[in-house]
Amino acid sequence: MSDPLPEIERRFERVRLLVFNAVLSVLDYRVPEGMAVEPGSVVVAPLGPRQILGIVWEPERLNGAEVPDTKLRALLEVLPVPPVPAQLRRLIEWTADYYCASMSSVARMTLASSAALRGGGTTTEYRLTGEEPARMTPQRAAALDALQGEQGSIRELAELASVSEGVLRGMVGAGLLEPVLVDCDRPYPPALPDFAEPTLNPGQREAADTFVAAVAERKFAPFLLDGVTGSGKTETYFEAVAEALRLGRQVLVLLPEIALTENFLRRFESRFGTPPILWHSSLKASERRRAWRAIAHGQAQVVVGARSALFLPYANLGLIVVDEAHEVSFKQDDGVRYNARDVAVIRARFEAVPVVLASATPALESLQLAEAGVYTRIELPDRFGGAQMPTIKIVDLREEAPERGRWLAPRLVEEMKLRLARGEQSLLFLNRRGYAPLTLCRHCGHRFQCPNCTAWLVEHRFSSRLACHHCGHETPVPETCPECGTGDCLVACGPGVERIADEVGELLPEARVAVVTSDTLNSREAVGRFVAQAEEGAIDVIVGTQLVTKGYHFPELTLVGVVDADLGLEGGDLRAGERTYQQIAQVSGRAGRAEKPGEVLIQTRHPEAAVISALASGDRDAFYAAETEARRDAGAPPFGRWAAIIVSSEDQSEAQSAARAIGATAPNHPDMLVLGPAPAPMALLRGRYRYRLLINARRSAELQKALAEWLGPLQFPQGVRVAIDIDPYSFV
Ligand code: ADP
Ligand code: ZN
Repeated sequence: MSDPLPEIERRFERVRLLVFNAVLSVLDYRVPEGMAVEPGSVVVAPLGPRQILGIVWEPERLNGAEVPDTKLRALLEVLPVPPVPAQLRRLIEWTADYYCASMSSVARMTLASSAALRGGGTTTEYRLTGEEPARMTPQRAAALDALQGEQGSIRELAELASVSEGVLRGMVGAGLLEPVLVDCDRPYPPALPDFAEPTLNPGQREAADTFVAAVAERKFAPFLLDGVTGSGKTETYFEAVAEALRLGRQVLVLLPEIALTENFLRRFESRFGTPPILWHSSLKASERRRAWRAIAHGQAQVVVGARSALFLPYANLGLIVVDEAHEVSFKQDDGVRYNARDVAVIRARFEAVPVVLASATPALESLQLAEAGVYTRIELPDRFGGAQMPTIKIVDLREEAPERGRWLAPRLVEEMKLRLARGEQSLLFLNRRGYAPLTLCRHCGHRFQCPNCTAWLVEHRFSSRLACHHCGHETPVPETCPECGTGDCLVACGPGVERIADEVGELLPEARVAVVTSDTLNSREAVGRFVAQAEEGAIDVIVGTQLVTKGYHFPELTLVGVVDADLGLEGGDLRAGERTYQQIAQVSGRAGRAEKPGEVLIQTRHPEAAVISALASGDRDAFYAAETEARRDAGAPPFGRWAAIIVSSEDQSEAQSAARAIGATAPNHPDMLVLGPAPAPMALLRGRYRYRLLINARRSAELQKALAEWLGPLQFPQGVRVAIDIDPYSFV
């Protein structure tokens, strides 16, 4: 009697893995007897003498070499985590395909906590005991100071305190630090959908009802929540979050930057009784492990995070929200160059759930999709509670020039004085960190340039350093010019926020000024302090970069001054006009959010520029219409597509010849125009010389396929990196 069973068994013994290895990505293995795996299982496999991590994948979806059965090695272990769900496996495939990235580099974002993969249990962290040291050293003093109230692994604490791990181990031995056992599986307190329900106004109610119905229906439904600043977009989508909670489903809320989360956490807690679960790159290892496991097991109800939260293995997703969806920081510009806003919509499609893109200044691409009926547009045209939109006025710097050596026009200064006298707040926006964007020697003209980048060093007076904003290179401000040796000769050219703060200090000596940049708001605690001070009225003037343009709600803030509206229009960015419009509209949106009306003064040398006049007249539609036509004419997104090929090497001639070789083999494709290669605007970045080719393609072109066929056969020297950027944003 012939028995078909062994056949079947043999078929199931063989598995294909997506593995995390720089060179190989697909390997076949044998499943040893007694081990059970299924697609999505996370496993450990042998590779040579080492062990590697892999995800079991459907073999027909993953091309690999056909290894004969007899050569297969056996899997070692199945890790104690839920299998990566099928919808997420499809998303990983889609993302890798669309962005021309390797599947393993995408999947790595899913398995973002290696500790979590080993299961739950406990881990040891350390904290200060409060003992006085018998022997004090400068390092110990620094650690005692920096680690007040902190708890973490030795490595994390060493980083926090900027001392070596050895110093901290010594402190453990001396009884200054004590171990604490942390349970990585302790559950999060439940978020309560009905904890503090707001009374929505009719517009908000209608929008909320639409979202709630979509959550209940549980099918793919993309929404563009297009509401003016202060219209209560957050309150509105919170109702959809509440519905997901009632139905026991998970919610992912993506925020563009971590600085915004503090405010979000507080609002969330007052609405749902407990903070949401945070996910971002600087989480402690134990928190990361706890959050990852809660997400994968479906215990985490609402996760709020930066873009990296998008690829986590949610067990039971019911809703995705992308807040401030127009923000460029959703685009990742290294590793997998993906746009989290766009991938969020794709994830919602695979998960069959609604997705809400919320913004007061949507990306043109999103508006276009709403026009085309792909997204449902939900509008909130009025501010909540009767607050009025601020009045916007232009200060033509050619006619109303600031005093020599100053940057604030007299009218702006007068308005600030008025606010100060009334006990109200002013906000000055300038998107430039540091004191001055360029520093040079008055005697010989020497300019301080970054050794690793085509960029000037920016003077930071708070820290007395010259810093590169691209690679992080820093040096102390020298006493003498390194070129000519003259002492005390450095002059600052142009303004940064620190310089504006100085100017405010001179013009309004009694004003309490806060500088808000990523340098000053570099931790959750710092953000919390700033928000508390601003709300208590302990700050009169805020001087900030794009970090203060969104998210904040300070009722006493009634004046916004845009120091240099023309700044964003410089440079060759494809979306410069749109970006400028968004930034200024957003920062304007900070003014007059409560009873007191707001006013915005925009300083410019180009009042006639389309974006400036649109801001002044409040005619958003006209601006978007003009911008849309310009994009249509140029075949730019969303009407055509862009891709960039970035070639880099530490060796300039090597980078150049590789770029030329790519240019020389460019396909002659009727639907694709190839521009370049040309040196990137920042030809040298982090020590690498960069050349760029730009591709402008029709929507119908099979861009990714063409790129693969074009670049696939080419060979480059070891030191050359070739990166593809689909739908690029940054053009530096
Ligand atoms: P947006 O995100 O659209 O700029 P917010 O959601 O920040 O607006 O809302 C602006 C302010 O109005 C916030 O302080 C918010 O708490 C308040 N607000 C909005 N809607 C309501 C409501 N229905 N009930 C109470 N407060 C509300
Ligand atoms: Zn640099």
